Amino acid sequence: MICNQCPRKCNVDRIRTTGYCKSPEEFRLSRAALHFWEEPCISGKNGSGAVFFSGCNLGCLFCQNYEISHENKGMTVSDDGLIKIFENLIEQGANNINLVNPTHYAVQLATLLKKYKPSVPVVYNSSGYESTETLKMLDGLVDIYLPDFKYIRSDKALKYSRAEDYPEVAMRALEEMYLQRGKTEFDENGIMKKGMIIRHLILPSNTNSSLKILDFINEKFPNAYVSLMAQYTPCNDLSAVPELDRKITEREYNKVVDYALNLGMDKIFIQSGESADEKFIPDFDFTGIIK
Ligand code: SF4
Repeated sequence: MICNQCPRKCNVDRIRTTGYCKSPEEFRLSRAALHFWEEPCISGKNGSGAVFFSGCNLGCLFCQNYEISHENKGMTVSDDGLIKIFENLIEQGANNINLVNPTHYAVQLATLLKKYKPSVPVVYNSSGYESTETLKMLDGLVDIYLPDFKYIRSDKALKYSRAEDYPEVAMRALEEMYLQRGKTEFDENGIMKKGMIIRHLILPSNTNSSLKILDFINEKFPNAYVSLMAQYTPCNDLSAVPELDRKITEREYNKVVDYALNLGMDKIFIQSGESADEKFIPDFDFTGIIK
């Protein structure tokens, strides 16, 4: 399989070698378990069926899941194995199947979801660094898009994620996702069945960028749900980016939330500062993995 499925367009044969995402053609996973720390309409009481893919096509320096995204800790899983993993999570009561960091497997997932569509909503939980052509393959197969919008400045995107084109790529990706799933539906318990939530992780010393991101979202997607994330926790060697080597302050977070409210944005999820703790990083111990 010659891979150009994400904006990196490595043009490598993933059967023989790997590209930027360090991932072979077969699925590689590090954990599949109920997860309770997503937005309330995603996790609910029962939990979200989070399936963590190894490797990453973005590779942020500050990634909290470094051992799977950069070091590619994972186990190879067949198509049948992945379907069994989905079924196990549904049996455990998962509100949805939450594909965490799936971008570098989007084409393979489109093929699999055409064969087997889970009986609960499928969530596509990604960095936003997506190709629109690939996203079109997921039209009708993904029920909920949960993309990040990380950077609006290309210099920051280059410095933190080696992706200078992130802002324009992510903007186009959000437009495609909104086209597919801009209309939101909830069940009687407030659990999202269809829709989109745009996530933004506020980084230390970067709140002015956060405000510009809110301006963009408010103008382009006035009805979108937005999740303002306070959970940034420095946990890798950040000597190259010392400004990121701390948690955000309450003042920084409040500045961003207040700005959103002043814009009149009323579909906002906010997070407690206590979420910025390593204890919320899952154990990538292959829980729930079936080969
Ligand atoms: S999915 Fe991986 S191999 Fe394919 S283009 Fe993207 S980074 Fe390169």
